[in-house]
Amino acid sequence: MYERSFIDSLFPSDLPEPTYWEERFPPRQLAPGARVTRFCPSPTGPLHIGGISTAILCEDIARHSGGTYLVRIEDTDQARELPGVKEQFERAFQVFDVVPQESVWTGGDYGPYIQSARRDIYLTYVRDLLRRGHAYLCFATKDELTAMAAAQQAAKTPTGYYGLWATWRDKPAEEVEKALAEGLPYVVRFRSEAEPGARVSFVDASRGTVELNANHNDVVILKSSHLETPLPTYHFAHAVDDHLMRISLVIRGDEWLSSVPVHLQLFSALGFDQIEYAHFAPLLKLDKGNKRKLSKRKDPEASVSYYDEAGYPSEAVRYYLRGLINGRLAEMPLIEARSVPINLAGLTHSGALVDVVKLDDICADYVATLAGPQILEAVTGWAERYDPELANALAAEPDRALGALSIEREGVENPRKDLRRWSEFRAVYGYFFDSLFTAVTELPDKLAGINRTLVATFAREFIDTYAEIDDPDQWFEQIRGLAVKNGFAASPREYRAAPERYQGSIREASQIIRVALTGSTRSPDLQAVAKCLGRDTVIRRVGALTTIH
Ligand code: GLU
Repeated sequence: MYERSFIDSLFPSDLPEPTYWEERFPPRQLAPGARVTRFCPSPTGPLHIGGISTAILCEDIARHSGGTYLVRIEDTDQARELPGVKEQFERAFQVFDVVPQESVWTGGDYGPYIQSARRDIYLTYVRDLLRRGHAYLCFATKDELTAMAAAQQAAKTPTGYYGLWATWRDKPAEEVEKALAEGLPYVVRFRSEAEPGARVSFVDASRGTVELNANHNDVVILKSSHLETPLPTYHFAHAVDDHLMRISLVIRGDEWLSSVPVHLQLFSALGFDQIEYAHFAPLLKLDKGNKRKLSKRKDPEASVSYYDEAGYPSEAVRYYLRGLINGRLAEMPLIEARSVPINLAGLTHSGALVDVVKLDDICADYVATLAGPQILEAVTGWAERYDPELANALAAEPDRALGALSIEREGVENPRKDLRRWSEFRAVYGYFFDSLFTAVTELPDKLAGINRTLVATFAREFIDTYAEIDDPDQWFEQIRGLAVKNGFAASPREYRAAPERYQGSIREASQIIRVALTGSTRSPDLQAVAKCLGRDTVIRRVGALTTIH
């Protein structure tokens, strides 16, 4: 063990003692059973949809137990940090309704909530471990470590820095002081007490008893002294943070399961009470018949921004993700499922498949349950961010938007299922807005065979006589009358009986009006569309066909 004065000389002289932090962050006053959970993204890349699942889980468990859900940004890997990612996190939490109660954005009594601002706290505990002989300085160079790993592989012995391989573990103090005096860079390593081959078990709140190889490795806890501001490693920082933030349940992905043995050792050496863990399986994707992890690199749907940019209704995505986390919630209708708590024992351990086709269906069903004003609000929010031209059109003609959305939606038993995402609004409803509509001066192929002079006359007579009529049948008679007058059969049956006598039937005639009004041969009920557009617009749009030649 090193002299205390030597250890202290490595740290700022005013560094607080552990008791200071313990008092500054006292145990929380919580009702029995209340859970304090945390979601800890690293700003090394955009948020994965699996991360949002974790956040949903953390938030749900905390809320239903009367506890607290916080977000801590784990940025100890500063070299890999991506600019702008923290802002994306904040946005994602808002979109998916998992805004933390404590975080860098919301504040809180247990902060700072970003690891790079907690350096002094970590240093206190690194010094503490050194003073109590649970840690030591290691001056091994990169080359030495590489050579060691090669020698271990050749000797078929477990790799890592441990036992006799750990040359700095029991170095005499003079040699350590000499290396330091020479200005050599060092890291601080944790002194593991476990032998290779030892086993350890713990109870996972979701998986039950888990047995794993104990950690025999003297893991690094504080990174190179030659970095500008040496930060701890994730393993060490998370132990200190989860303890001082008074977390009571750590929910995280399975990829951390193999780190539990080292985490248990750190908690014990630091003198902290062990926190309960719950690990859950990653989201999977079916790829050519095989299941594999959903990958941020290969799968656009792995990234949270994919859902935001495409304007998936976040409520439906939340419902879908909650169903993936807890299968029983997928069996319930959305409205019911949203207030039912997730249960830890029901977490999926084999990994749940993300199926965007299924998600599309859920979204279409969900949007069909919304009223026009709710859809308009959501589309507007999305458009303001991703489609300013659409946002302007909606702002300029809000009544048109509401009118359009009410067609075959309000007062009907089976509302239209024509929207799965807000980005589809433009394609489905864009023609209602004058600023998004291009006048039709040419007919599509299907109608191109009809005599153009006749089309022009038909359009001219239509606008000259057009009346807004509420009764759909009477309204339609306007088209029928003019159609017959201009050489179309009054019914498809009449047309089929003598096609050589007609330009087409009433079907083609009304398609001409439909195309003029909507730019497409498919639309909801034509009278309802015309009514929503209003007389002036109808006349202007059909008027564009009067010059066809
Ligand atoms: N920062 C870690 C990550 O990016 C969090 C792990 C944990 O939740 O303990 O996955």
